[in-house]
Amino acid sequence: MAKPLQTRTLRATARNLAFLARRLRAGEIVAVPTETVYGLAGNALDPAACAKIFRAKGRPASDPLIVHLHSAAQLPQVCQPNSAALKLARRFWPGPLTLVLPKTAAVPGIVTAGRDSVAVRVPSHPVFRRLLKLTGVPLAAPSANRFGYISPTTARHVREGLGGKIRHILDGGAAQIGLESTILDLRDPRRPVLLRPGAITLADIRSVLPRVTESRRTARAAVTTAKSIGLVAPGLLARHYSPRTLVVLHAVIPLPRATSSDARDAWVFLRRPRIGKKTAPNIFWLDERGTLPGAARRLFATLRTIDAIKFRRIHVELAPDRGLGRAINDRLRRAAAR
Ligand code: AMP
Ligand code: MG
Repeated sequence: MAKPLQTRTLRATARNLAFLARRLRAGEIVAVPTETVYGLAGNALDPAACAKIFRAKGRPASDPLIVHLHSAAQLPQVCQPNSAALKLARRFWPGPLTLVLPKTAAVPGIVTAGRDSVAVRVPSHPVFRRLLKLTGVPLAAPSANRFGYISPTTARHVREGLGGKIRHILDGGAAQIGLESTILDLRDPRRPVLLRPGAITLADIRSVLPRVTESRRTARAAVTTAKSIGLVAPGLLARHYSPRTLVVLHAVIPLPRATSSDARDAWVFLRRPRIGKKTAPNIFWLDERGTLPGAARRLFATLRTIDAIKFRRIHVELAPDRGLGRAINDRLRRAAAR
């Protein structure tokens, strides 16, 4: 075991950003705010810096990292963009869309887990953008959590998981979107494939690339939800984004079932249930009015809060399986997978 590091959380002042940009250029890693979730960033062109990311997270070397650019003009440095990629970039960047493209020789194998393709995006978070600009290099950044646990959406979440393992956390406030980016495989531009649903929806991508399809895994999980009346069969998907407490998914939670249940079970509704004063310590909701952006923003923080209380089970109501709801449900299914 390496000696624990002293972890400092820094506000996004001009001075701190200049300091962190120097640390990044010197090969250190820094936890950074993004509009999706907090990331653990290092110079994507420096294999030693990227090795530190894997080590701090406990992430297996087989899981590739996303490379973040300040602008699409930097694409040729790290990948071979095609016309489909450039169209999507014009439409959705800066923003939560990651494109998988053939990589250039400048990108070390550790970033791509030995593949000849690299995942890239231009983020929109203003603080991260300033840091990317000051650093002047592409930054590889997976989510800033211990591998497999729930992604962090605040600087405090990062400290809870990686305190003692990294030196610096840049605090840019709570993540606006709250879910990891949409990932689109564009290695073959004639056959674009959605690998991970996110805030840029399938319909959004179809408005630019009509022929995009979902990966078999994503599509199969969606069908399971549509058919489910009570519990969704777990185990279909890799376990990820997981609380320690067992998660049970429901298409709908009848309110009386929750209000009359054993207090050791937590119940999470999409919107605030109409129970007036009867609300109990085991009843939660993601968004007051049940809006999907609100639910997405609060999902991971809510799961973390409940996980810390040590319930026996966390029952969660699935979102409608469309638009952003698909991304929410994708994360819930992975959290519930055994
Ligand atoms: P994270 O940043 O933790 O959300 O994880 C990044 C994810 O991006 C990985 O788990 C992969 O699913 C995906 N990814 C990254 N690079 C590639 C690549 N070259 N090809 C396909 N998927 C990738
Ligand atoms: Mg992750």
